[in-house]
Amino acid sequence: MSELSAKIWPKSAKIENGSLEIGGCSAIDLVAKYGSPIFILDEADLRTRAIDWKVQLSAAFGANSGSVIYAGKAFLSVEIAKIIEELGLALDVCTGGELAVARAAKFPAERLEMHGNNKSELEISEALDYGVAKIVVDSVSEIERVARLAKERKKVQEILIRLTPGVEAHTHEYISTAHEDVKFGFSIASGAAWEAVTEIAKHETLRLMGVHAHIGSQIFNEEAFVETATRLIGFMGRFAKEYKRELRELNLGGGFGIAYTESDNPISAEKMLSSICKIVATESTNAGIAIPRVSIEPGRAIIGPSMVTLYTVGTTKEVELENGDTRLYVAVDGGMSDNIRTALYGADYITILANRGSNSGLRNCRVVGKHCESGDILIKEIALPSDISPGDLLAIPATGAYGRSMASNYNHVPRPGVISVSNGTARTIIRSETAADLLALDISEPARPIREQK
Ligand SMILES: *Cc1c(COP(=O)(O)O)cnc(C)c1O
Repeated sequence: MSELSAKIWPKSAKIENGSLEIGGCSAIDLVAKYGSPIFILDEADLRTRAIDWKVQLSAAFGANSGSVIYAGKAFLSVEIAKIIEELGLALDVCTGGELAVARAAKFPAERLEMHGNNKSELEISEALDYGVAKIVVDSVSEIERVARLAKERKKVQEILIRLTPGVEAHTHEYISTAHEDVKFGFSIASGAAWEAVTEIAKHETLRLMGVHAHIGSQIFNEEAFVETATRLIGFMGRFAKEYKRELRELNLGGGFGIAYTESDNPISAEKMLSSICKIVATESTNAGIAIPRVSIEPGRAIIGPSMVTLYTVGTTKEVELENGDTRLYVAVDGGMSDNIRTALYGADYITILANRGSNSGLRNCRVVGKHCESGDILIKEIALPSDISPGDLLAIPATGAYGRSMASNYNHVPRPGVISVSNGTARTIIRSETAADLLALDISEPARPIREQK
């Protein structure tokens, strides 16, 4: 079997005697102990990536570096929050559920930021009571809501305003638009952002600290961030002139891309941040303001490459195609319930046979799941050893972000657990669900008049 590509696999992944090993634990032993499908986290890899973003932000911005704020939505659990805490990063949460995880991990409130385009009164109240450092406001209704709930608590809440800069970015290119038809943020071009600032200024329980934008995901180069920084700093310059005070925080969001396959080539954190740093310096001078503190919110780029999913092959089936060729459908014991990205976005992944080497020739395969949907595809097309059979293990790398966090119980399939491995040791950080977990919410009770129920 060929070498594992360093840009796709976690750092400790290697082939030992023909089978995959991560964190010194063999895939065979892991599946024997924990079953499959199962997510395997290379904890050292996660730590290295998280620290690297912090080091690179400091290296680029020095005294003007703000925080690396891990975007919890990519993947969050109590143990992950503890690791992020221990490494000195900040954390962003965007629902009451994510906040509950942060609280369970005793994540320091002064390093928490709350996002979301429709935070409920309860979610805002919980955030205020826990004392989250910053709430990122996203609508006029929310400005009023946060102000009122802060007032009830006799608090002044620090906030950022989420702006829509008119930069929409994906992988290789970005689209520049005056008006973006999206639910997030206040448009700079339409004047909505300026109106929001005026609204915020009416509330003495709100303290506007800076601006925020998140322009997309899986972005491979600096161009879109450079354009965004330019537009945001322009806005900060206007604010400084009108309000005679400077906003000090510039949060450029996340979206830094990772390699899922050989053809993905994201630039390094170092290159990305040094380019952003240059434009921030230039544009701040142009806008006549001091260089703001720059924060970023990587999610995928921290957790994505650190995790691998292990599956067991259940069936293989040869299907004849219209052009006369054949394709081998390789069905595994999970699918769109543990990784919706292929079905949802047409995402590409690779996989390898994880339990043995093979000298057989390669053949054209499609890796599918066990769900009752034709679209339940994990990998549309990949060459795998032609002797692949039921009982073999497959490993799909780079599944740490938006895999377990987007998992569902479709078809009443239990969601896989997450096992953290390191130096030949393994520990569960999320256990796999069981049929009992699935049934735990089902209730059989007699009907009662609704008015008597509270
Ligand atoms: C999703 C999201 C992120 C993280 O995006 P990645 O692509 O995982 O880096 C950061 N900030 C906000 C506001 C987001 O919505």
